This record gives sequence, C-alpha cells and structure tokens, in this order.
Amino acid sequence: MATSWENLTSQVKTCKKCRLWKGAKHTVFGEGPRDARVMLVGQNPGEEEDKTGRPFVGRAGKFLNKILEENKIEREKLFITNIVKHKTPGNRKLKNDEIAACLPYFLEQIKMIKPKIIVLMGETARKTPRKRGIVYLETYHPAAAMRSGKMRKKFRDDFRSLKKLMIKI
Ligand code: SF4
Repeated sequence: MATSWENLTSQVKTCKKCRLWKGAKHTVFGEGPRDARVMLVGQNPGEEEDKTGRPFVGRAGKFLNKILEENKIEREKLFITNIVKHKTPGNRKLKNDEIAACLPYFLEQIKMIKPKIIVLMGETARKTPRKRGIVYLETYHPAAAMRSGKMRKKFRDDFRSLKKLMIKI
C-alpha cells in the first residue's frame, strides 16, 4: 500500500503488475485536485490518453467536457481517472485479471482524496466495490453515450442530477 500521494503516483508510473504496461506509452494516473469532492471514473485510457498521459482527452473526453459545461460543472474541480491506468492493445476489452491487478490503485486514490461523490461511467466502473459514506452515481461511459441517442439523453440527465447533488452536499 502507498504511504503518500507521491508514493502512489510513482508506484503506478512504474507498475508492471499486469501485461498492459508493455504496449503503453504513458500511465494515466488521473488528474484533478487531491481534495476533490467529486471523482469521475471510467474504464481505461484510449489512444489519445496514452499519448498525453491525461484522462479523457480524446473524442469521448470532448463529449464529457461538453456535458460538464452544459451543467456548469468545472472539470478542474473534479478528480478524473479510470479503473485501469494503462491502455489495452488495439483498444481491446479489458481482461478480468487486468482489472483485478489495477483496481487497488483506484481504491487507494479514493482513500486519499476522500470524495463525497463518485460517478461511475461504464460497466467496468459500475462493478467496483462501494465504500460507506460516499454517494455513487452510475451512468454510461461517455464513449457509449455519444453514440446513441437514448444513452446520450440518460447521460445528460445523470450529469444534471450530479449538479443538483453537488449543490446539496
Ligand atoms: S494496467 Fe494497472 S496493474 Fe496493469 S501494469 Fe498498468 S498500472 Fe499496473
């Protein structure tokens, strides 16, 4: 277990706990304030995220930014990350052992950030264990939401609910 934020960052940066580090340019640890009240979590980085080392900067990230702006939620105030910190080869589906190997890093991030709300985006994120005292919101992954009208509507509604919740707590 990491003893500090710096320690956790460096553990992730040099991690070889599963096969994914081999085909990746960068780890994508996540970004945002260390005392963020809200965490957004997706599945794992894609090509653009791997190139830049930043979460949600590709097409899905741009769509997410648009929904955040619509709801006057400042991205800079959120901690945005993924369950798995490396991309998969050819953007293939994550394997269970990869999720299991990487999940402790996300749980450790929660322990250190102590958010009030966590938004779980997509199926992989929705399956993570819950912690007491945190409000969880479940929604689609932005990559899925941007492709389908029905999902897009639900995604929009969920971020509207997030905004209301952020005002309350
Ligand atoms: S995906 Fe996670 S567990 Fe696997 S090598 Fe990368 S940081 Fe380590």
